[in-house]
Amino acid sequence: MATAVKLNTGAQMPIVGLGTWKSPPGKVAEAVKAAIAAGYRHIDGAMVYQNETEVGEGVNAMIKEGVVKREDLFIVSKLWCTFHEKSLVQQACKKTLADLKLDYLDLYLVHWPMGCKSGGDLFPLDGNGELIGDNTHFLETWEGMEQLVDAGLVKAIGISNFNKDQIEAILKKPGLKYKPANNQVECHPYLTQDKLIEYCHSQGITVTAYSPLGSPDRPWAKPEDPSLLDDPNIKAIADKHKKTSAQVLIRFHVQRNVIVIPKSITPQRIQENFQVFDFELTEEEMKIILGFNRNWRCCSMHWGLKHKDYPFNTKF
Ligand code: NDP
Repeated sequence: MATAVKLNTGAQMPIVGLGTWKSPPGKVAEAVKAAIAAGYRHIDGAMVYQNETEVGEGVNAMIKEGVVKREDLFIVSKLWCTFHEKSLVQQACKKTLADLKLDYLDLYLVHWPMGCKSGGDLFPLDGNGELIGDNTHFLETWEGMEQLVDAGLVKAIGISNFNKDQIEAILKKPGLKYKPANNQVECHPYLTQDKLIEYCHSQGITVTAYSPLGSPDRPWAKPEDPSLLDDPNIKAIADKHKKTSAQVLIRFHVQRNVIVIPKSITPQRIQENFQVFDFELTEEEMKIILGFNRNWRCCSMHWGLKHKDYPFNTKF
């Protein structure tokens, strides 16, 4: 089973990476170091996680110690919504690179299709608690992303939380210079994304699954929400393989050729989440897991429901 997925740029993207959303600045450098020591070569970050300085500390410490070389690593970051104006894209990317203390990213994603009011506030909300949009369209933002490739700041560009119509709009854009290399979306057994994955793969766009464990530490979690890690049906499959539920939830993506980025700041779990290359789910088990779909999202970005480019009002 491949441990990397080939992008349309020719680069290899390691199929399991470390997520860093909600990883506190005081913990994330150690988590990154533990991950690299455990064999991870892919780290997923974003400006809006407000911990890129410490992510960079972890990465650079491991390079300095000679454990890895920069070119062995695959570092991902994301353009935040308040930097969608074409003239702001490069500034945002350079801020991320300065925080990480790196001179290039392997992949830079448009975090959401929705542009929001620029300025200091990362979450500009109106009196009703709704995101304040700007006048940009993501096709304009995409031109700014293409310029980053030409400037040598990023090796590949992609998107995140884009629906099929929005992806199609980019692919059909007159004068398109670079196709998206990757779409990062929520995906797990309760949101299997069959149609979106099939569409992306048919267009040569790789898919990354975020919140693969159901994001139990998301700030808006409610006790009555479904829990993948506690699901007895997942546990039963894990027991059969003498593996944990988390390992089954991660392996599920590997077998679909989908990249997966579980987050943890706990060294033992970081190691556990990477031990997914020594077992195989049967075809029957994959079918059973796909049957758990209930189109449930842990990250619906409900503040953006009324935004003109809100992605989750369509079928897929
Ligand atoms: P995950 O589904 O990865 O779940 C993370 C939670 O699971 C943490 O509470 C972690 O605890 C716990 N955990 C990790 N491993 C285990 C284990 N083996 N057993 C039991 N519990 C475990 O959630 P995320 O929402 O963080 O998604 C992963 C990553 O995807 C993010 O960190 C981010 O990089 C990316 N992402 C991208 C989004 C986008 O819009 N593009 C949106 C959401 C996420 P602990 O850390 O305490 O060990």
